Parts: sequence; C-alpha cells; structure tokens
Amino acid sequence: MTKKYDVIIVGAGIGGLHAGIYLQSENPGLKTLIVEQNDYPGGYVSGFTINGFYFDSAAETILGYAKSSSRAILQKYDFYHPIHTVEPMEAYYNDNHVVRMFSNPELFLQDIEKVHPDQSAGVRKLIETSHQIRKDIKELSLDEGITFGKLLRIIFKRPVLRKYARKNYKQLLDEFITNDEVKDYFKLFSLWFGLKLENLKAPILAYIISVAFTEGLYYPEGGMGAFAKKLAELYVTRGGELRYKSTVKKILIEKKTAKSVLLTSGEEIQADYIIANSDLHKTIFEYIGKKHFSRRFTDRIRKIETSMSGVLLYLGIENYDLSKYPAHLMIGRTSDITKNYEENDFNVDGIAVRIPNNSDKLKARPEKESLIVLTFAPYNWNNFWKIGRNKKRTKEYRELKKSIIAKIITKLESFMPNISKHIKIKRLATPMTFERFNGSTNGAWYGPKVNQRLPSFKSQIKNLFFAGSNVGGSGVQAAMSSGLETGAFLMRKMNKKLLKEY
Ligand SMILES: Cc1cc2nc3c(=O)[nH]c(=O)nc-3n(C[C@H](O)[C@H](O)[C@H](O)COP(=O)(O)OP(=O)(O)OC[C@H]3O[C@@H](n4cnc5c(N)ncnc54)[C@H](O)[C@@H]3O)c2cc1C
Repeated sequence: MTKKYDVIIVGAGIGGLHAGIYLQSENPGLKTLIVEQNDYPGGYVSGFTINGFYFDSAAETILGYAKSSSRAILQKYDFYHPIHTVEPMEAYYNDNHVVRMFSNPELFLQDIEKVHPDQSAGVRKLIETSHQIRKDIKELSLDEGITFGKLLRIIFKRPVLRKYARKNYKQLLDEFITNDEVKDYFKLFSLWFGLKLENLKAPILAYIISVAFTEGLYYPEGGMGAFAKKLAELYVTRGGELRYKSTVKKILIEKKTAKSVLLTSGEEIQADYIIANSDLHKTIFEYIGKKHFSRRFTDRIRKIETSMSGVLLYLGIENYDLSKYPAHLMIGRTSDITKNYEENDFNVDGIAVRIPNNSDKLKARPEKESLIVLTFAPYNWNNFWKIGRNKKRTKEYRELKKSIIAKIITKLESFMPNISKHIKIKRLATPMTFERFNGSTNGAWYGPKVNQRLPSFKSQIKNLFFAGSNVGGSGVQAAMSSGLETGAFLMRKMNKKLLKEY
C-alpha cells in the first residue's frame, strides 16, 4: 500500500483546491494529496484549448469575488490573480430593441427608460430595496455570538428584511415590476440556481441583485483555466501533492472510520483524513456504500435533488468582426431558456451568447476568437440524449449533437450574418458530457438544488468530510468558501489532537 498521507482530497474542483491550499498554507509540514480524475485542475472552473482557440469549459464568472472573504484569505497566502468586470453584464436582444444591464444601475435605467418608460420607477425601487436587504443581512451576519432572542430583536428593527424574509423571488419582482419582459431581465440572477422563481428566497436574490448593481460580476484574467492552474500551482508550492488521471473508485471505511482511497488503477492510498469534493450522491452510494451510513441519512440524501443541466456550444471563430457585439448577450427571452427545465423539454428558442474577448476592449484582439452559446436542457431528454441508460456513446447521439449544433448556429446567424462561414471549431457539451467529465450526477451544473437542506460537511463517518457545492451550495463562490471552511475545521481538529497527544 502507498505511503500514508495526513489528508487526501478527492477531486481538484475549486472546493477541493481551496481546502488543500488552506491546510498546506496553515501547516506546510502536512502531507496532503489531491487525487483528480482529469488531467487538469478546477473541475467546472477550468478551460481548454483546441487548435489555438481557448474556451472556459463551464463557469466563467465569480459573483462578489473582489470583496469576498475567500479572496482575502487567499491573499494572506500570497495568491493574487487579476480580475475584471464585464460591461454590460448582459444585453437583451428582443423584438428590435436592446436593453443593456450595467453594474451602474443608472446606465441600465437609461435603457429601461427608453424601452419600458412605465417600468423605470419600479426597477429603481427594486434595486434600492435590494441594497437595503443586503445591508440588513450584512449587519446580521457581522453580529457574532448572536442568540435567538437577540436575532428576533434585530430582525424586528429591520422592517425591510422582515417584510421580505418569507417572500419568494417571484413575489419580490411582482411587487415592483408589471411587465413580463422586464421581469425576464431580472431572471438573469436566478438562472444560476436553475429553480423556478417561486422556489427562490427573496432576500438571497435581493442580495445578489445588490452585489451585481454595485460591484458587477468578476472574471479572472485569462479565463477560468488560468485561474484554476494558478490555484493548483499555489497548492503544490505550499507542499501539497496533486495527482491527475487518478480516479477514486472507493473510499474505504474500517471500524466506522475513513481509512484510504482505492483508485481505479487498483492502487490503495491511506490517509488519516479524507475530504470528498466529488459529487454527493456518487460519493455516498458508489464510493463509500450505503451500509456505512444510517438509513435515515441515506434516505435523506436520496431525496436531495440535483440542479439543472444544459448544453454548451464552443465555437472557434476566425476572421469575423465580433467586436461590435457585447461580451454577453441573450437572444430570445430569458424565460425561453428557463422553460426548458420548467417543462422538462429542450429547444433553442432562447440562447445566451458569450464572447470573452469583448470583455476587455483594451486588449489586442486575437486572430482566433472563441464564442460560447449556452442554454438549459434536461438530463433525461430524448431517452437520455439517445444513448439510453447504459451511457455508451452511439451514432444516434453524435447525429443528435450535429443537429443541435446546426440549429444553434442557424439561430446565431439570424443575429450575426454569415458567421457560419467563419466557424473553425464546433464542440457541443450535453448533460452527458458534464456527467462524464465532472462525475456529476445527472450532469448537474450547480451540485444539489439550493432550496433544500444540504448535509453538513462533517459526515457520520469518522475522519471523513465533504467540501464544495455538495455541502456549500451553488456556484464558484460557495464552493470556494466551503473548501476553506472544511479545511479550517479539519485544521482545528488536527491541532486539538496534537495538543492532546503532548
Ligand atoms: C456550464 C456551467 C456554468 C457555470 N457557470 C457558473 C458561473 O458563471 N458562476 C458560478 O459561480 N458558478 C457557475 N457554475 C457552477 C460552478 O462552476 C460550480 O458550482 C462549482 O465550480 C463547483 O465546484 P466544486 O469544487 O464543488 O465541484 P466540481 O467543479 O464539480 O469539482 C469536482 C471535482 O472532482 C473530480 N472528481 C469527481 N469524481 C472523482 C473521482 N471519483 N475521482 C477523482 N476525481 C473526481 C472532478 O473531476 C472535478 O474536478 C457553472 C457550472 C456549469 C456546469
């Protein structure tokens, strides 16, 4: 059996990397190992290059990163990566008019005033209310050592937060906006959760609106691939070991204690502690096995629903002037995109288009440009994308992908004339692709849906912990914080154990 580590982390996703960086930076004497099935770090926070065209593979933006505590913690460890915002955050092309959403709400309101003059007062009020809710939430979370009685008194003193505490996002939007198209603009902030507006809590969405309309959304320079690589370098520089192309088949448990990981190669590696940054359902039911958990716990995990999935079309474009378009644009209504998962159907009526090189107009334009199109799609659509349940790629699957690529390009061309003649690379990722490359149950984009009680990062098994979207919630920011939280908890635990031993 291979040498023993203090900690093994399963998966070099953004959560696993953050847990590893925390542990190695706080105690460089530790021996930690991250095992990753792919040959690149970051999981959904990654990028790839084909024939000189660079693409972010999945996530592209980090909400509220500039002032986040995860960034502040990593800066302590000398990690710095330049970030920029994208303006407009989104541009909506509908019925011969364009509405652009900027982080400066006054600029957004100028477009609203032009296109929907009767909605402008409501939009302004919605943004102001969101700022107030965020302020209230921040004050609440800053107050340490809070008791329940104190909490009640504090909420009582915050009438705005109190008013919206029990409302959902639909109710929040309905209160201020009467026009469906304008409501659609604000669906941008709920797209990341893949849930119906009724299932999203008003204060959480108000918080996000407030962050977006003060700070904007952050994009790491050079794309997510460069960001994740730098994080992986930091981990290794601090003494961590990172092994790629190493797939965990089992997490072995002995006497109710996590003991080792067994790789698909047959190698078994021991550790005192194991952190699973891999998919929640797979970790519990495939890698560990239900017999090691209580029936109550496995029943609860079985009921946890995965978030939605979708398709991403990566296009490599040459000799076409993309500079005249915004970096982010939506063709068709946002509700066309959400319809796909609400009605368990798939079409390309609404698509989101991303042109990364337009986010920084000062940069010299490369000859090879990338353009990414995305929309939601259910995992089980069309008999699991014509490959059935055995997951074997078939000719029918490839043909289906070709037809979807053609449909998306036709839609794009209605907006960007003749672009098809300039496309050098076309690759389509379906829910099956996300499942295969990230090990995500149902090809879920955001881990478990956020409107459910997620399990704690502390497991029922001694010395086994979780990190990432599995326990921390949707999105890059949540996965980072979760990795740091798990790392910090484990650090304290190890220190306590050391103290006892002396
Ligand atoms: C298309 C798309 C767009 C998105 N856009 C955004 C966005 O713009 N902003 C945002 O905040 N969020 C976005 N998200 C969500 C966000 O990317 C994720 O919530 C977050 O990155 C999850 O990080 P994680 O570390 O928890 O997990 P993951 O990124 O899923 O990492 C898990 C890692 O574990 C590895 N692994 C799994 N099983 C094994 C095994 N058996 N053995 C070894 N390794 C294993 C995987 O290969 C992977 O590297 C997007 C997601 C998708 C798919």
